[in-house]
Amino acid sequence: MSEAEAKQIERMKQVLEAQKAAFKAERHRPIDKRKADLDRVANLCRDNAEAIAEAISRDFGNRAREESIIAEIAFVIQDVAHTKKHLAKWMKTRRVGVPMTLMPGKAEIRREPKGVVGIVAPWNYPFQLAIAPLVAALGAGCRALIKPSEYTPATAELMKSLLAEAFEEDHVAVITGGPAVGEAFTGLKFDHLFYTGSTQVGRLVAKAAAENLVPVTLELGGKSPAIVTPDYPRDSAAKSIAWGKFFNAGQTCVAPDYVMTPKGSETAMGEAIVSAVQHQFPDASTDDAYTAIVSDRHYERLNSMIEEARKGGATVLQPEHDSQAAQAARKIPPTVLINPPADAKVMSEEIFGPVLPVIGYSELDSAIDYVTDRDHPLALYVYSKDKVQAQRVLDATQSGGAGVNINLLHLSVPDLPFGGIGASGQGAYHGKDGFDTFTHDRSVFSTGKWHPSRLLAPPYGKLFERISKKQLG
Ligand code: NAD
Repeated sequence: MSEAEAKQIERMKQVLEAQKAAFKAERHRPIDKRKADLDRVANLCRDNAEAIAEAISRDFGNRAREESIIAEIAFVIQDVAHTKKHLAKWMKTRRVGVPMTLMPGKAEIRREPKGVVGIVAPWNYPFQLAIAPLVAALGAGCRALIKPSEYTPATAELMKSLLAEAFEEDHVAVITGGPAVGEAFTGLKFDHLFYTGSTQVGRLVAKAAAENLVPVTLELGGKSPAIVTPDYPRDSAAKSIAWGKFFNAGQTCVAPDYVMTPKGSETAMGEAIVSAVQHQFPDASTDDAYTAIVSDRHYERLNSMIEEARKGGATVLQPEHDSQAAQAARKIPPTVLINPPADAKVMSEEIFGPVLPVIGYSELDSAIDYVTDRDHPLALYVYSKDKVQAQRVLDATQSGGAGVNINLLHLSVPDLPFGGIGASGQGAYHGKDGFDTFTHDRSVFSTGKWHPSRLLAPPYGKLFERISKKQLG
């Protein structure tokens, strides 16, 4: 561990204590203050949009400015607007009915902030995946510590200084560092821990949280399939899949990880996808609209996955590109692998890059079995004109979320919970689900001087017999 990391660990303990003390002093942050907190987040996004996009691009080597504007900054601004619009309704104490025997009591659910929350973010959308959970936490009236990824240091530093300008440290703070800091961070006694990252590290985070009985949300990854049925126009499926897959060069948790197409159509589907990307990025190696791979380590991993699949017999399709320019820019051109071997890494690990296996299936049921024999994915996409077929795929599978004739965009619907299931995660956020994640539903029952249940207390008599008989039915 570096000296700087050791300092961050020391600092985060102090900040946590300060945030806990501040929360104790104001357990119920009023709605006008919460709205002002949210406005501060939206304003820092608006005022620094170009600087944020530029920092992310520096971290990636090149990140398309438009991708950052849409997926990082506009996303958060929309999220703030949605949260502010519904906040009063979400915060409202809810009255519930009481059974006859407890009348005339009053039962209600108070929506209370959990307290101080920890947010651990990955590198692939380094701003949005730290700030969208923060929006949910601030809406819920919580205080937050954020630990961004070490792979995106420029974004992390910018986020740290922008949030420090907008918030007191005992309200919102950023702690920087790598796995050692992450490990210490997730071992802290937060009131909720919100983690986005790999399934592998997610397991460690769940263990660390369990040690302190800290409730945890795990937003993890997985292999999200796109199943195309025979009736769906190939070019339309190819265009849609190419868009979602190669956005951010495939470094998206819900990007289609592999495509399943009717046997015999694999090459035609692969060629249609390549032709669609060629239209999007005439030369991916030099086009700024096509994002680079975040680090040398990730670049080498992806190249070795392609090489392994090629050696195993997969046909590799790529649009025309300048391979020297691509390498110099740490870019991997959009790559389609036709029928890679089943034991290749591209078919067993989450790819998380611009590499797309296309595999054939004989019957729709065998495609469904392929998916259900594996961990539940974070997303599943089905392309079918036939509503019954699409429904069949949805009914027979499980996944965090799903898209019919579309991919990626389910996460842009603020009223849809976003999260995984099983190995792809637990818990959810976005919109009300984010507010709920950081909110404790406190059950309160109050009653007057008298209520019939008192008759159930000793000394027991005939009245007890009569009432209990009724209750037992
Ligand atoms: P990662 O798990 O390597 O790192 C994520 C964060 O965890 C980083 O901040 C890192 O410093 C920290 N960390 C690393 N080791 C740790 C440890 N031992 N204890 C605590 N924290 C630790 O993930 P990544 O490579 O940054 O992100 C890629 C993964 O994230 C992919 O699997 C992707 O699918 C997933 N992801 C999921 C979502 C989602 O919303 N479900 C979104 C984006 C990415």
